[in-house]
Amino acid sequence: MSIIVQKYGGSSLADDEKIMRVAKRIVDAKRDGNQIVAIVSAMGKTTDYLISMAEKITSSPPKREMDRLLSTGEQISMSLLAMAIHKLGENVVSLTGPQAGIITDSSYNKAKIIKIVSHRLLNELENDNIIIVAGFQGETENHDIATLGRGGSDTSAVSIAAALKANLCEIFTDVDGIYACDPRIVPNAKKLKIVSYDEMAELSILGAKVLHPRSVTVAKTHGVTIHVRSSFNHNIGTVVKEVSSVEREGLITGIAHDFNVAKVVVFGVPDTPGIASLIFTELANADINIHMIVQSAQIGNKNDIAFTCSLEDAEEARKILQKVSDEIGAERVLVDESLAKVSIVGSGMTTHSNIAARMFGALAKAGVNIDMIGTSEITISVVVKSSDCGDAVKTLASEFKLTSF
Ligand code: ADP
Ligand code: ASP
Ligand code: MG
Repeated sequence: MSIIVQKYGGSSLADDEKIMRVAKRIVDAKRDGNQIVAIVSAMGKTTDYLISMAEKITSSPPKREMDRLLSTGEQISMSLLAMAIHKLGENVVSLTGPQAGIITDSSYNKAKIIKIVSHRLLNELENDNIIIVAGFQGETENHDIATLGRGGSDTSAVSIAAALKANLCEIFTDVDGIYACDPRIVPNAKKLKIVSYDEMAELSILGAKVLHPRSVTVAKTHGVTIHVRSSFNHNIGTVVKEVSSVEREGLITGIAHDFNVAKVVVFGVPDTPGIASLIFTELANADINIHMIVQSAQIGNKNDIAFTCSLEDAEEARKILQKVSDEIGAERVLVDESLAKVSIVGSGMTTHSNIAARMFGALAKAGVNIDMIGTSEITISVVVKSSDCGDAVKTLASEFKLTSF
C-alpha cells in the first residue's frame, strides 16, 4: 500500500461545508487503496484572530504562551475534520504535533523540526486509521509546544512525508498550483508545471506565500516530491522536484515579492576592522535574521552600513543598533518600514549576463526607483517603495514573459 501525505491549508478548511469536502477527498484517496496522513492548517483566518486576541491583552506576549495559543487553531480543524471522516464511515484518529512525534527546537514562533518519532504514526496506519495531524506545531525537548512560523503546516507535511518515506506529498491550497508570480497581483501569471527545489526555495524565502520556505529545503534534503494543487478541483498542479537543465523552461522562472521588509541603516560607522562583526554579532545574538547587507564607500574614514530584516525584528534591531552605535561612535540609526522587496528567480540567469540590465531597465521605464540591490547565484532582488511593489511585479512579469497571454 502507498502512503500519501496530504496537507490542507486554512482556506480549504474555512467552514463546515469545506471540511466535509476535504473529508470526502481524503476518504476517496483511502478507498483507492492508500494509507493517508493529512496535515491541517487552522480554519480560514483563525491564526490571525488568535493573534489579535493576544494583542488585546498585551503588546509583548511571552513567546511560549503565544505558541501555546496559536497551536490551538490547528487542533480545532484536526478534530472537526476527523469527525467529518468518521461520519463518512472510515476509521480516523487526529493527533496534535506532539502526539504525532514531531520534535522541534525551542525557538518559539520559528521553531525547526529536529526529528519525527514516527512509531505512533506507523501504528495508527497499521491499525487502518486515516491520520489527521495538526500542522504548524511540535514539541520541544522540554515538552512545551512550539510553532514553526506562519505557513509552517507545509513544513509539517513535508517532514512527515520524509519520515514515513511517503510515495507522494500533496499540498492542497486555494490556487491551481505555483504561478510565475502571485496571481493576486498578476491575474494572468503563467502556471508552472515543474519547479526545481532550488528555485522554489528562493521564491519562498523571497516572499512567495504558496509554500513555507523550510518545507522546500526539507523536501530537497530528503528527496520528497511535492505536488501543489487546488483543493477545489482535480486539476494537475505544480510539481516541485530536482529538475535537469533539459526540463528547464526560460531564463527567469518566477518573481516573488515581500512586504515584510524593513531597512535599517547605521550612518557614519568608523571604518575599522571588527565593527561589522560587532554589529552583526549583536543582531545574531538576538536571533535577528539579516537578508541584504550593503556597505557604502568610505568617506572620511567612515561609511554607512544598511541591511534588511523582517518588520517584526525591526524595532529590536533599532534598539540594539542604537546601543552599539553609541559604543562605537556611529552617527545615527534609521529604520524604514515602508518598503517591499521584489525578486526575480531563475537558474537560467547563471548563463546570461544581461538579466540585471533588463530588470533595472524595465523598472526605470515604469518609474520605479530602486533603493537597494542584492543578488545570489539565481536571484536578483531590489528593495522599492511598498507603493511601487505591484507595478514592479507587473512590469517584470511582462519583461520576462511570465504571463500566459
Ligand atoms: P494555504 O492556506 O493553502 O496554505 P497560502 O495563502 O499560504 O494558502 O498560499 C496560497 C496563496 O499564495 C495563494 O492564494 C496566492 O495568492 C499566494 N501566492 C503568492 N505567490 C504565489 C505564486 N507564485 N503561485 C501561487 N500562489 C502564490
Ligand atoms: N495556521 C498557520 C498560519 O496561518 C500555519 C499554516 O497555515 O500553515 O500561518
Ligand atoms: Mg500556506
